[in-house]
Amino acid sequence: MSTIETSNLTKRFGDLTAVDGVDLDVAAGEVLCLLGPSGCGKTTTLRMIAGLENATDGDVHIAGRRVNDLSPAERDIAMVFQFYALYPSLTVAENLAFPLHAEKMTKAEIDARVAVVAGKLALGDVLHRLPNHLAEGEKQRVAVARSIVRDPNCFLFDEPLSRLDVELRMAMRGQIKEILSELSKATVIVTHDQLEALTMADRIAVMRDGRIEQIATPHDIFAHPKNVFVAGFIGTPQMNLLEGQLLRQNGQASFALAGQEVSLELHDAHDRLHAGESYTVGIRPRGLEPLSEAAPGSLAATVDLVEPMGAETLLHLQADDQDIRVVVDRHRVVREGERLHLGLAADKLHLFGQNGGRIEL
Ligand code: ATP
Repeated sequence: MSTIETSNLTKRFGDLTAVDGVDLDVAAGEVLCLLGPSGCGKTTTLRMIAGLENATDGDVHIAGRRVNDLSPAERDIAMVFQFYALYPSLTVAENLAFPLHAEKMTKAEIDARVAVVAGKLALGDVLHRLPNHLAEGEKQRVAVARSIVRDPNCFLFDEPLSRLDVELRMAMRGQIKEILSELSKATVIVTHDQLEALTMADRIAVMRDGRIEQIATPHDIFAHPKNVFVAGFIGTPQMNLLEGQLLRQNGQASFALAGQEVSLELHDAHDRLHAGESYTVGIRPRGLEPLSEAAPGSLAATVDLVEPMGAETLLHLQADDQDIRVVVDRHRVVREGERLHLGLAADKLHLFGQNGGRIEL
């Protein structure tokens, strides 16, 4: 079975702990995206799985076998990098056939395998071309084709689409996902692009400072971020995270938010909330609704900037020095300087405690 497991995987460079006790378990056929800000340890994690970097601590298992002491070649993995190194003097067909020469296959077998993979990645018409005569998207497809032609144990991708323009990226995300889903291999993709992760991954591992903050499906990460960091990192425009104090709860919870008292219906969370304590109230920009007048669950804020985004408009507002982002339909006319009452629906709220951890509502 093509699987990847890491346990307590750790890498230290001198005093710096780049990867700190990472546990991953990628099933056959599953695509796991490592997502996180620059420098959080994604590439180092991938390189330790590939065998390009030795682990300081912890284990890597590929297809059930401990591979810590095996070379990259012995691990039988395929890697696709941001810089796809195609052989410039070989045609596409020869580039695709190259990894197969070591496999002692006949020419007919190699040709057949190349034809199948070229068909999968729509490269049939460019097999005779040299890489320099290909469009960027085609080069990237050749790199992916070359990685799958050999039928390796598993796939590792490092920012595979970052060199492509926006339109091509969107097309390639779908194509790669479709191809991977046919192959039943464990795949790890490193990316800092959350849209890439949300569209390609079966599960996402969000990393920060060498550690995994949350591993879950794209839906769960978005709907139930485990802490303030994940909540602020996933979703565009970014979730509003307002610091507030719980004033009292008698049927409703009343928070002091941005210098105002806001009452919210949080009946189910009674036993987990304590008056006098500070909380972070999270609400996505599409979860705030401008109302025609003030209401108990509304927050007044002044429009600072109106940013058209096509079908929607992004409003930047200020309330007591806190920035608030709201997305409204483009037909809604809002002017800079206008005072809005924003409705905070309790079912759209995310609540986090003082340690940053999520409180289920
Ligand atoms: P990016 O998205 O920018 O590539 P990343 O999440 O992939 O970031 P890594 O490249 O894994 O992060 O780096 C993690 C940390 O380890 C960073 O602080 C980086 O500077 C450091 N690092 C990586 N490789 C080395 C090395 N060979 N020697 C020393 N420090 C390193």
